[in-house]
Amino acid sequence: MKVSKTIELVRQLVKEARRTGKTIGFVPTMGALHAGHVSLIDTAKQKCDYVVVSIFVNPTQFGPSEDFDKYPRPIEEDLKICQKAGVDLVFNPTTSEMYPDKNITCVNVEKLTDNMCGRSRPGHFRGVTTVCAKLFNIVSPDFAFFGQKDAQQAIVIKRMVADLNMPLEIVVCPIVREQNGLAMSSRNKYLSPQEREDAAFIYKSLQKCREMVDSGIRKTETIIVQMRNILEKKASIKIEYVSIVDEKTLENIEVVQDKVLAAVAVRIGSTRLIDNIPIDIST
Ligand code: AMP
Repeated sequence: MKVSKTIELVRQLVKEARRTGKTIGFVPTMGALHAGHVSLIDTAKQKCDYVVVSIFVNPTQFGPSEDFDKYPRPIEEDLKICQKAGVDLVFNPTTSEMYPDKNITCVNVEKLTDNMCGRSRPGHFRGVTTVCAKLFNIVSPDFAFFGQKDAQQAIVIKRMVADLNMPLEIVVCPIVREQNGLAMSSRNKYLSPQEREDAAFIYKSLQKCREMVDSGIRKTETIIVQMRNILEKKASIKIEYVSIVDEKTLENIEVVQDKVLAAVAVRIGSTRLIDNIPIDIST
């Protein structure tokens, strides 16, 4: 496994791989890798001949009062995980390698970023799309792999790729969960054992949504009240949003139909956690 801190070396190694006829798979991450990330790498390895993982805590997607400084950066452990997973190349740039000058060019996906995390984290998606556009230009992958865990991010990135004719395909992989249902996240490291138990109620609220839809309930207001009731059982959980949105537009809907996304964002202590389930009643 090769590790590169420079854009130049990544370009050179990917070029060599491509010259030998290999397809390039790319998994962008912020490190503190867990089984969710590994599932993306595994899928990339199944689909592609040469797998690149980036580990970069991107400052431009964090708000001024967010956890950029304290975000975990266990690079040695991360490299071991990548090695074990069979990654070919890890790109671990410094901030100055990625942003030698203050960026005055940004990619902004409109509308799809207005609701949910876009509403509660102004500027976040602009940081995400801009860094992904840069990473795609550096790595030039055939496929890039994203997690359903960050559902809005995956939809926004797909739209950026389509709108800007970027020559790659986005593959979205299912959410990997802890035994208690909590979606795996690098931020779970911040949780105390009690908070981790409480956090299981996030998935419980989403399961309630699925149960209600399965039992024929379609009014989102009725479902959201019940989801909130479950989350409110734990005093440690502070709800940021509980939304049921159209899977394509990400706009709130009044009635469940076709394909929708039920999504939750909460805070437990100072830790922000998100989760979602896609629901398809179109068939
Ligand atoms: P991050 O390092 O948090 O920026 O995540 C990097 C990629 O891993 C993103 O595409 C995430 O959606 C994905 N990811 C994070 N957690 C999970 C999970 N529990 N299951 C599947 N994918 C995940």
